Order: sequence, then C-alpha cells, then structure tokens
Amino acid sequence: MLESLKKMFSGNEGDMPVNTGSKPDISRQKSAELYEKAKTYFPGGVNSPVRAFKSVYGTPLFIQKGDGCFVWDADGNQFIDFCGSWGPLILGHNPAKVREKVTEVMQNGMSFGAPTALENELAEIIIKNNKHVEKIRFTSSGTEAVMSAIRLARGYTGKDKIIKFEGCYHGHTDSLLVKAGSGLVTFGETSSLGVPQSFAAETVVIPLNDKNALEQAFEQFKGQVAAVIIEGIPANNGLLMQDQEYIDFLQKICKDNAALLIFDEVITGFRLGFEGAAGHYNAKPDIVTYGKILGGGLPVGMYGASAEIMGQISPDGGVYQAGTLSGNPVAMAAGIAQLTELLRSGFYKELNGKAEEFAESIQRFATARNYKFKVFHVGSIFWFAFTDKDKIQCADDIDPASMEKFKVMHRELLNRGIYLGPSGYEVGFVSAAHTKVELEKAKRAILETLDIVFRNK
Ligand SMILES: *Cc1c(COP(=O)(O)O)cnc(C)c1O
Repeated sequence: MLESLKKMFSGNEGDMPVNTGSKPDISRQKSAELYEKAKTYFPGGVNSPVRAFKSVYGTPLFIQKGDGCFVWDADGNQFIDFCGSWGPLILGHNPAKVREKVTEVMQNGMSFGAPTALENELAEIIIKNNKHVEKIRFTSSGTEAVMSAIRLARGYTGKDKIIKFEGCYHGHTDSLLVKAGSGLVTFGETSSLGVPQSFAAETVVIPLNDKNALEQAFEQFKGQVAAVIIEGIPANNGLLMQDQEYIDFLQKICKDNAALLIFDEVITGFRLGFEGAAGHYNAKPDIVTYGKILGGGLPVGMYGASAEIMGQISPDGGVYQAGTLSGNPVAMAAGIAQLTELLRSGFYKELNGKAEEFAESIQRFATARNYKFKVFHVGSIFWFAFTDKDKIQCADDIDPASMEKFKVMHRELLNRGIYLGPSGYEVGFVSAAHTKVELEKAKRAILETLDIVFRNK
C-alpha cells in the first residue's frame, strides 16, 4: 500500500456518525419513457438481459454520457460509476488517449476485411508483455473468443468433454450455458431454452475450489476431457477467490490427463495486472481468452496460446474460425491506446492500491458496526456480499436471500449518485479515473446505505 493512499482514507470509519435516513428517489422520468419505447423494440427493452434492472428497483437508467468516473442519465442525474461498462473501462469513460486514437484511425475508414498494420501493433503489445501467448486471434466479443477456444481445445486434443465450474460465466455459447445438476460431478443441465441436452451432455459441471470433485470428474471421464475452463478469478457470480493451492492442483491434474487448461480472462485480463489472473497465480494456462479491457470499450475479444496449439487454427490448421469484423481497425486502435496506458510503470500499483484502500475502509466500517457484510476484493475488482462468512469460494456459498439487502443498497446508492451494476451477483470496478475525492464521496454514500440496510437487523 502506498503511504499517500493510506493517508487518503485516514480516520476511523467505525466511529463515523452517518446519516441513516433514506433519500427520496431521483427522477427517472426520461429513462422510464425511453424504456417504454425500448420495450416495443427489444425483448425486455434491452439488448442484454441484466440491463433490464430485473433484480433491483425501478426502471433502467438510459445513459447519455460518460466522462472519467462519471455517467449521466437521460434525466441529467450524475453518478460515480463502478460498473464501467461491465469492466472494459479501466481508464474510466471516454479517456482522451483512446478517443483521440480512435478518431484519428476512423478518418481512414472503418472496416476493410483485409489485414491492417493496427492488428500487428496490438498483437505485438500483447505478445511482448504476456508470457502465456505466442500467437493470438482477435474476435469481436468475449463469447466468440471462448467459443473458439473450446473448439480449439477439442480440435487439438481430439477429445470432446469440457469441464466447467458452477458459478463461472463464459459468455452465451451453447455448450457453456449449462449448470450443475444434483451431485458432485454432473453432466450439465442446460440453463437456457434452445440448448439441446445433447450439447450440454458434453459439458461436465463441478463446484469451484474442490479438489475432490476435480479428481472425481477426471476419473469418471477418463481419457475424454479436452479441457477444463475456469475464469482466471471467477467474477461473474460474486467474486469467488480460489486458493493458490487449488489452482496449482488444477494445473497438475490437467497435465496428468492431457487436458488443456483454459483461463477465461475476459474480465481479469489486463485488469489484475497486464497478465491477468495467470500472472496473479503465476499459472500457465494452455489457452487464454481476453475481451472487455482489450477493446477499450469497443467490441473486441481474443484467444491465444502457444504457437503449436494455435497452429491448429484455420488457415494453418483444421479448426475453423473466422469473423467479418475480426481485427476491426477502429477497435484495434482503441485497444492499442488503452493497453499502452496500462503498460506505464506503476499503473497497476496505483490503481490496485487505491481500490484496496477503498474496499478495506468500507470493510472496517462494517466490521466495527458488526454488520454481516463483506467487501471481497482483488486488484481493482470488488464485490459487496451480505454475509458473515470470511471466504466465499464457490457458488453454493452465496445465500440468495442476501440479494434482498443488495436491492435496498442499490436503490439508496442511486439516490446518492452512485451507480453499481444492477445485480448483487455482479462485481464492481475501480478505474484509474476514480480520484481520491470521488472515492471518498462514494465511500460515505456506501456507509450511509449500510446503516439503512442494517437499520432493523
Ligand atoms: C463478459 C465475459 C464473457 C463474455 O464476453 P462478451 O463480450 O460479453 O461476449 C466471457 N467470459 C467472461 C469471464 C466474461 O466476464
């Protein structure tokens, strides 16, 4: 922890008197009108389900503008944003460096469907600074990257089964829209209509952080497992930190069974550090997938591996994968500009230190007040959990009833100008654009809402 950062949150949060009154709801009239209109165009009024605010109060906010750590909605309300477009905006909204590079590149046209030097440039930034990939392929989303990584693993190993973990999200590709059935090691049950049970049967679902389950799965499907896929640090269903020992075990058991280990780093890649969760755990996944931060807010995904494994990809090899807009020059430009900033010396140290102190100062307050509330955090990712458990490491550790408390918190925070993703299962992100002043302001608001949530405990 940097000394200067330590000072920034000095004071004993436990003694801090806070205002425990609810605030009146902010006006969402324009958002509500836009939402009514949107419902006539889109299922649920949205183009991605969680945006519909089904798990929290009120209509979704229609965002008009973002700048730094702030967003403004259609009614002119201003918020300090901790959603950051679900992770990509590690530099905050609309950073000048990214905007300038993108607008410069756009002057020459927006898509060619032919190679450009920009693809080389972004690839070089990644490959030079990441020991996990020798060759890569750009896609247009995280889902595509994961879908392709799975196909590559199957093509490379000549095996079909995939092991995935309950509580990890990997985008909406068919074979990963599966959840655990009952029992320790189970064939997936589809978690979406439209996914054939026969697809789901190729995916084995087990709990996180459980060596026994992993051993049993490899035993039960001996010689059939192409790959194990895990989020580098699971961050789509709460923040489920895995033990170092477990990650080491996972690598070993994959190796012993000639199965590939896929780290889905669509959230954690370039977030925890330039090498993501693989760097954090000093792990050596066989295939990695990235997205979100990689595109600087534009649609980009990527998968990568050793030159040997990537040699299976078409046109070099027999695993087909393509994309009309893959490597799109405008998106590459955003990636180049954003990743270049992340490589500045001290970038992660400062960001992560700031986020850590933010998270821990909130925790000190909750602990002093004896609230059943934990701020789990790693790097600049945090998750508010209404629990008294010291660790939450698998999906079953989360009490669904605790989400009622999050709902209250979310509403109170919106009314205080703080925007969190609209679900208690979602993590929050601190960006480089969150200054001490705004973090202090946000912290105050969070402490107030905790007092409200726990008023009748
Ligand atoms: C967001 C996410 C995806 C899906 O990426 P999209 O760009 O939304 O398709 C896949 N895996 C993980 C770990 C993610 O967080």
